[in-house]
Amino acid sequence: MTKHFVYGPVPSRRLGRSLGVDLVPYKVCSYDCIYCQLGRTKEKTIDRKPYIPVRKILDELYQKLEKGITADYITVAGSGEPTLNSEIGTLIHDIKKHTVIPVAVLTNGSLLADNHVCESIMEADAVLPSLDAHDQAGFETINRPHPEISFETMVEGLISFRKEYAGETWLEVFILDGINATEYDAMQFKDWIEKVTPDKVHINTAVRPSAETYARQVSPENMTRFCKILGEKAEVIAPFKDLEKHEENIDVGQGVLNLLRRRPCTLDDISSGLSLHRNEILKYIDPLIKNHKIGTVKKGTMVYYQAGPDKP
Ligand code: SF4
Repeated sequence: MTKHFVYGPVPSRRLGRSLGVDLVPYKVCSYDCIYCQLGRTKEKTIDRKPYIPVRKILDELYQKLEKGITADYITVAGSGEPTLNSEIGTLIHDIKKHTVIPVAVLTNGSLLADNHVCESIMEADAVLPSLDAHDQAGFETINRPHPEISFETMVEGLISFRKEYAGETWLEVFILDGINATEYDAMQFKDWIEKVTPDKVHINTAVRPSAETYARQVSPENMTRFCKILGEKAEVIAPFKDLEKHEENIDVGQGVLNLLRRRPCTLDDISSGLSLHRNEILKYIDPLIKNHKIGTVKKGTMVYYQAGPDKP
């Protein structure tokens, strides 16, 4: 299968039509979040290097744009933590010279205490970091960070980045039932959010299969309650009702269904079978799960998708 570094555009609740750019191989990350929809981290690291040469990524991106593909955002994200790619600054700078489409960076925020990392993403139009814990214990439970990253370093990095950065900062708080979703948790998050001062706060939960089965989703009612405590800037972004529809999803969704009618598959299997990026596949899986066309089953540590009982 040809390796693609650019995927989509895919529908995104936060970013509209998002053209994704993958900066690290699957799955290189500074965290190993229990809720990660990509599965467990294969290489937990804080080493920054050119994991994927940006020239290759830019060539593929510009070829797509030349074909007339449009998007609301070019989103730097992918199969792990994008700020681990030491050439991210060069990439963003080049994209900004090439197109008027705004650039967003989806990051876990773990490296923002490093000035080089902050400087490298300053030219982005929006930065979307995460804050899933309000203390060291929760940080270790939920994000399972690289041992050299502490909660304090991470959150201080977020605060100082926000002070310097002129673009939009949209903070994501990922909450999990029985882990970090009580009213007490919400009050603790509120204190940190007041220090970070993001432009928006997005509350999410595990609506897709997680790396660990005990990372369970919070009910819509409790999400709303939690969100209210965080104040006016906060909104729920988990796609409970509002299925993200897209003109391109019919064929891909049908392709996923056809594949799963033959046999249960992992996300990787579907990605290889349809020659599409994992993140792109995930967008089409949401409506299929919501409409009970497919379900999930765990075998050992692997999550498999399978066609539902309504298969012909
Ligand atoms: S959710 Fe993001 S930060 Fe967490 S392990 Fe997955 S890729 Fe890394």
